[in-house]
Amino acid sequence: MGQSETITIPGFVNAHCHAFQRALRGRRTGSDFWAWRDAMITEAERHTPESVREEYAATYRELRAAGYTAVGEFHYLGLEEARSAVEAAADAGIEIVLLLSAYARGGTDRFRQASAGEYLTQLETLLEAGARVGCAPHSVRACPPEWLDEIGRYAAREGLVLHVHADEQPREIEECVAEHGVRPIELLERSGCLGPHTTVVHATHADDRELDLLAASGARVCVCPTTEANLGDGFAPFARLRERGIGICIGSDSNVRIDPLEELRELETSARRLALRRELCDAGTLLCFGADEGAAALGLESWPDAEVDLAHQSLQGVAREDVLDALVFGCDAGVFR
Ligand SMILES: [Zn+2]
Repeated sequence: MGQSETITIPGFVNAHCHAFQRALRGRRTGSDFWAWRDAMITEAERHTPESVREEYAATYRELRAAGYTAVGEFHYLGLEEARSAVEAAADAGIEIVLLLSAYARGGTDRFRQASAGEYLTQLETLLEAGARVGCAPHSVRACPPEWLDEIGRYAAREGLVLHVHADEQPREIEECVAEHGVRPIELLERSGCLGPHTTVVHATHADDRELDLLAASGARVCVCPTTEANLGDGFAPFARLRERGIGICIGSDSNVRIDPLEELRELETSARRLALRRELCDAGTLLCFGADEGAAALGLESWPDAEVDLAHQSLQGVAREDVLDALVFGCDAGVFR
């Protein structure tokens, strides 16, 4: 193999990213998700449009170097900061879909809008400025059913993608059942938020009925294995998603790690540990989750490719026909040019 030999594969699509959380990498932030969340909110408080512009560009360059060529930024730091995120992506040379978060309650002041109407006005401001956007009611924790109804209707009418966190932690499910008598994905279905344009982020603790609702609606699930591992969330119900033919895409989420190959490997190997068998999913299908499914989740028809360096040390001695398997099971993102 010559020094310059490469192969081209579809670029990875990071369908779920909170770029500001990159700053928490390596920081000790307590013993459970909720303690981490307090630290995350403190981190969110310090940002200005200028700091977002600068720090997001650095994180997006890291994504780009790791083979991601498009990102869905799930953004809840405010409207001006949303514009800065879009500029940062242009600066770093990565495609961006700004998933503007709707946040009615909880969190901190800067996350919230006064009404679903104010949220939709913010979204339209970004659209008019030429940004690619999607609707992102944050969660059933942060958005009451009236907001979900209004935003769900808007996304369907305007042909926008809709992303929402659900079923990441058991406590969120218990609170939803206590308040609404149904589980989070059931509430999303009842509020008109599920459809082929919908991506549910995590779905870690979704039960069979919730997964049936996702399958029936054509919604996708975005798994974020390195973040879910780091936060002690659990891991995706991969076999049950696959049985139902539910589309799967990946996200770097908190950016504790930035490596699409590791996300895909974790997805498959966590399921292998449970099933006590191998090859639940072939490498080609996993790479498709990392690229095409993510693009579909973001409503992107085209996005740049990624270049694999065949001379990289971790691909030495690998036959050409085995390269895709070697990427998923034996390489890290250092193989991308
Ligand atoms: Zn998230």
